[in-house]
Amino acid sequence: MTERTDVVVVGAGVSGLAAARRLHEGGLRVLVLEGHGEPGGRAALMPASEPDGLPAGNMYLPPGARALLDLAAELDVPVEPVLHDAALQDLRVDDDGDVHHSEDNVPLGTSWWTRLRNEWIFAGFARLSRNVDLAEPWRSAEAQELDQRTVRSWLRSYTSDTRLLGLVEEALTLDAGLPADRISLLWLLAHIGPDLPDVDDFLRLDPALLVERLAAPIAGCLRTGRHVERVEQDEQGVRVGGPWGEVAADRAVLALSPADAAHIAFSPALPPEREGLQREWPHSEIIRTELVYWRPFWRKFGLSGGVHFDDGVPAWTLDDSPTDADEGRLVAHTYMFDESDPLGADRRITGAPDRHRALLLENLRVALGPLADDPIAFTQSAAGPDTYSRAYQSPTPPGFLTRYGSWLRRPVGRVHWAAAETGAFPGNGALDGAVTSGHRAADDILGGA
Ligand SMILES: Cc1cc2nc3c(=O)[nH]c(=O)nc-3n(C[C@H](O)[C@H](O)[C@H](O)COP(=O)(O)OP(=O)(O)OC[C@H]3O[C@@H](n4cnc5c(N)ncnc54)[C@H](O)[C@@H]3O)c2cc1C
Repeated sequence: MTERTDVVVVGAGVSGLAAARRLHEGGLRVLVLEGHGEPGGRAALMPASEPDGLPAGNMYLPPGARALLDLAAELDVPVEPVLHDAALQDLRVDDDGDVHHSEDNVPLGTSWWTRLRNEWIFAGFARLSRNVDLAEPWRSAEAQELDQRTVRSWLRSYTSDTRLLGLVEEALTLDAGLPADRISLLWLLAHIGPDLPDVDDFLRLDPALLVERLAAPIAGCLRTGRHVERVEQDEQGVRVGGPWGEVAADRAVLALSPADAAHIAFSPALPPEREGLQREWPHSEIIRTELVYWRPFWRKFGLSGGVHFDDGVPAWTLDDSPTDADEGRLVAHTYMFDESDPLGADRRITGAPDRHRALLLENLRVALGPLADDPIAFTQSAAGPDTYSRAYQSPTPPGFLTRYGSWLRRPVGRVHWAAAETGAFPGNGALDGAVTSGHRAADDILGGA
């Protein structure tokens, strides 16, 4: 059976919902096809905590995430500052399990000179980033040169101080989700942007509420359980199909990661550059774990709840306790790269949630004491392959952006592309990028592009 509409959107993540909402407001008929049973995609990755049904925790955004902040304001989704109390200390747990106190994740005892140079390096990245075109980094003046270098090689040319390099690389790895030797300098500069936000200025919002409110006005246009296998186009229109049937439309918006697009059969075939972009798409995955306690007990001991673990399970935690309730909540991030890299995790946790849980609780007990071992709720995003992308970030390797960047958003006939990965920098890959990409794809269609 073929359903007809003006625009078919594939993917009901934040980008697809943002695109559909704008197209709907623009007066077009829209159908949104989502393979999962619920909308939300990666923003709805965490189920409510069992057994208490506590809502999933927050996601984080810098104060410069304008598109996301404007949308949150429009939808009346509360945005609040991340918890920060300068009087509370962070912890670091080294490979031997020894616990050290730290300030802003810099170990106490680090000389003021090393601290200062650490800050200079980040200010230097922000300065260099002023010459980068944030809309299309691959068109920047020195794009080729910047894109050929890894972040690590640039850092090594700047200093040989191993302690300083360790500090900087760790901070970058935590942020990008991949070690510095796999990231192009051009990507990092676009990702950081010229206005380096202070970590204390970060904000948080409930992604489940954002998805609920985005989806509400277009609920009638949403079809879940519709995995899309093929996209065909000709002069008459575009047809999007799967085992459930087919939708025919004038235009399609594919609002999904390039890695997901790689599994769809296109007829006629996509241009080779677009195919290469999808086939080689890089991304970094994490396991996000949410732990709920009766109280944020760590504060009683003068601790912030922020812990960095050298052995990587988890790589770091932060306090995500609600401001309007008593319970304490920790969010823990485990990176899925190998333990041979700093902050990498023992690969045997992949596809083994029980093992990940046991290791994570053991490490939290070492850092925060026995109370950490007894959460009232524990939820982890699954480790291992899923039907669809669970990428956290998509830091590109050397040469990738200059080779493929111009194909990220370029429509192919009647097919337009959205997804966080196609959003403007520095929000590219994050919720803000998902919103800008959905709006851009919708505006292109409404504007007749
Ligand atoms: C663990 C984790 C933590 C994160 N934390 C943050 C954070 O703190 N702050 C932040 O800003 N960002 C964060 N992000 C990133 C953020 O979640 C994503 O950038 C954003 O949700 C991506 O939205 P999207 O619409 O671009 O893609 P998706 O959410 O991936 O949407 C694509 C949709 O398409 C569907 N789909 C895919 N293929 C098909 C198909 N063939 N047929 C039908 N449907 C299909 C998928 O099911 C999905 O619903 C995090 C991501 C992860 C994984």
